[in-house]
Amino acid sequence: NATVVVDGVSKHYDLGGRVTALDDVSLTLSKGSYTAIMGPSGSGKSTLLNLVGGLDTPSAGRVVVDGRDLSSAGEDELAAVRGTDVGFVFQTFNLMPRLTAVENVALPLVFDGWDRDRRRERALSLLSDVGLGDRIDHLPTELSGGQRQRVAIARALSTEPALILADEPTGNVDTETGARILDVFDDLHAAGNTLLLVTHERHVAERAERVVHVEDGRVRSIEETPEGTD
Ligand code: ADP
Ligand code: ADP
Repeated sequence: NATVVVDGVSKHYDLGGRVTALDDVSLTLSKGSYTAIMGPSGSGKSTLLNLVGGLDTPSAGRVVVDGRDLSSAGEDELAAVRGTDVGFVFQTFNLMPRLTAVENVALPLVFDGWDRDRRRERALSLLSDVGLGDRIDHLPTELSGGQRQRVAIARALSTEPALILADEPTGNVDTETGARILDVFDDLHAAGNTLLLVTHERHVAERAERVVHVEDGRVRSIEETPEGTD
């Protein structure tokens, strides 16, 4: 019941010189698993996440998400995967500047055909989960960086995507907010979602069942955490 299969994946960038961001990486995520990726800056973590999320395609190898081979997918098919099955929590928030927090979180549900009242109800509940129940009518410019990040997290989760990808979700937030975000991820894991997150922080990675250590574009080791073995 693998949700994600990364099979022999390499990714090269050619910008007046060749950069190998990933070098023959293989990794399987079973449905409902919770995996963290750790590694030094530039080791290929974001590239791996982008490939699993269909934001980019590999130079070699296969990326299969929910039975769909993204490596050979066209742009339309990639967009369909991004739109439905995958929730992204990335550092760049891309919130709509003229929409309030609650409107930003409710926006993906418009495309999913939810009616107005249910959209608002769900968005309010998610904003409360990430500790922003008192900031629902603020515009992105009226929020701090960490608060914007939490709005982006709530938005990514609004459609209850089966696969959640997060790049440094606790990167720019204070300790209390970071703890809240990790609690939300624990809840998502308990609810059966599949999570893959990139982090520099050991205590964040330890919340996952498994830590994949990458270095120079390769998987160096895979560690089962106490969380995963109990
Ligand atoms: P990490 O997330 O571990 O910091 P990245 O996946 O962002 O690492 O980057 C891995 C390597 O690939 C780095 O050397 C980076 O400069 C390079 N790289 C990443 N994305 C691109 C891109 N779009 N164009 C060119 N080089 C890139
Ligand atoms: P992180 O610390 O999360 O890896 P980065 O600042 O390294 O964040 O990268 C942010 C985004 O920029 C990533 O999506 C990555 O693909 C892209 N990127 C990284 N390095 C390069 C590069 N040398 N050229 C172009 N894009 C890059």
